[in-house]
Amino acid sequence: MSRPIVAIVGRPNVGKSTLFNKLIGQRLSIVEDTPGVTRDRIFGECEWKNRKFSLVDTGGIEPESKDIILSQMRTQAQIAIDSADCIIFVTDVRTGMVATDLNIAQMLQRSNVPVIVCVNKCDTLGDPPADFYEFYNLGLGDPIQVSSVHGHGTGDLLDAVLEHLPEEKEEEDEGEIIKVAVIGKPNVGKSSLVNRVSGENRCIVSNIAGTTRDAVDTTIENKYGVFTFIDTAGLRRKSKVEDSIEHYSNLRAEMAVDRADVCVILIDATVGFTEQDSKVAGIAHEAGKGCIIAVNKWDAVEKDDKTMQEYKTKLEKDFSFMSYAPIIFISAQTGQRLDRLFELIHKVASSNAMRITTGTLNDILAQATARVQPPTDKGKRLKIYYMTQASTRPPTFICFVNSKELFHFSYQRYLENRIREIFSLEGTPVRMIVRERG
Ligand code: GDP
Ligand code: GDP
Repeated sequence: MSRPIVAIVGRPNVGKSTLFNKLIGQRLSIVEDTPGVTRDRIFGECEWKNRKFSLVDTGGIEPESKDIILSQMRTQAQIAIDSADCIIFVTDVRTGMVATDLNIAQMLQRSNVPVIVCVNKCDTLGDPPADFYEFYNLGLGDPIQVSSVHGHGTGDLLDAVLEHLPEEKEEEDEGEIIKVAVIGKPNVGKSSLVNRVSGENRCIVSNIAGTTRDAVDTTIENKYGVFTFIDTAGLRRKSKVEDSIEHYSNLRAEMAVDRADVCVILIDATVGFTEQDSKVAGIAHEAGKGCIIAVNKWDAVEKDDKTMQEYKTKLEKDFSFMSYAPIIFISAQTGQRLDRLFELIHKVASSNAMRITTGTLNDILAQATARVQPPTDKGKRLKIYYMTQASTRPPTFICFVNSKELFHFSYQRYLENRIREIFSLEGTPVRMIVRERG
């Protein structure tokens, strides 16, 4: 079962992003050690009383139009309605209830998504301020008083959220199922691909649906295994919100990637590589998922015997930040190489989940350092004392060294490549965490 999604909506300046950061920040993930994960997040993982869910700050999705606030808010609220299992509607006790709040409330009421009203900026402990009570007029049940800055009331808020999340079910054999997200910019052929494979393979109706989104995923079985194609929101039910909002299509990709084991990054062969392709691919890369670059619509390209190699060489440059990802040329329309695609998905999923024992790792380390001496600086040589795998998906290794500075990127790369070679790790990022020990 996938992780439920909770969306935060509300007018500008009520404190959505403060609340988001407060809720997300309670838990520092290992990913913080990874370079490149610095951009402002609008999507993150949250855990409360042993339940995990994903949190989305819709305030970070800015429709590109110069619309008046109300219409922007409507778009954001619609996104929340389309994608979330529960909505936190943030208001501001200092401004009191304003017309826009009522407007949003009406829209949320018409949806079937549970809504929790959070009255923010109640900074003093104890009885709520008098203005708190007017928020009952939103008609969305008992409001909860919160101070996002101080953290007061966030526990009550999270308790209310948990009450509205779908029941957690036992994960029946879910380990056997490989979850696949097909991502890419609009019109690359995402729905064509999912439709094609669900037409050609045995389609299984999922009985493990837990969240609203599980119900629209597509699970199929073939000789390579059982695969669930994650609904990249709107693959099957077209959303009311325009795909053209780039922020939104990236967020949808992010939500799908979050639930996936393997991401198939689709490129349109007739268009060629674009910046947006690299942004979408970057989402999968940063999330540490298994990645495959699939050039779709290969049927529509005029070609001779050199075209594919030339195309591939160019893409290897464009995607040099994820050189581990295999590149495959397919056609969702004719079905070309879809068998090979499944074979790759299977392979990449096991690379991503690879676990290597500490003993084996340190054998590899001993051999590798004997073959290529670790770097020195001013008479001091890098010593790598010990290496162990901290986690899988992606394989993450911790190295204990005498000096972080001496552990140059190129030497890290060398070690990583040794491990990749020995275990034929294809299609997965690998992370190295370096710890200094005296
Ligand atoms: P957003 O536009 O809804 O995301 O709002 P922000 O999170 O950017 O917050 C807007 C302003 O309200 C900032 O100056 C915050 O510091 C402030 N703010 C947010 N939460 C609280 C709170 O609980 N108490 C007080 N006093 N100020 C807050
Ligand atoms: P999505 O927006 O990424 O889901 O893209 P669609 O699946 O809706 O496809 C966009 C357009 O590309 C449609 O007109 C499809 O018929 C076309 N298309 C998709 N896959 C292929 C393919 O393999 N070959 C060709 N020639 N056209 C394709």
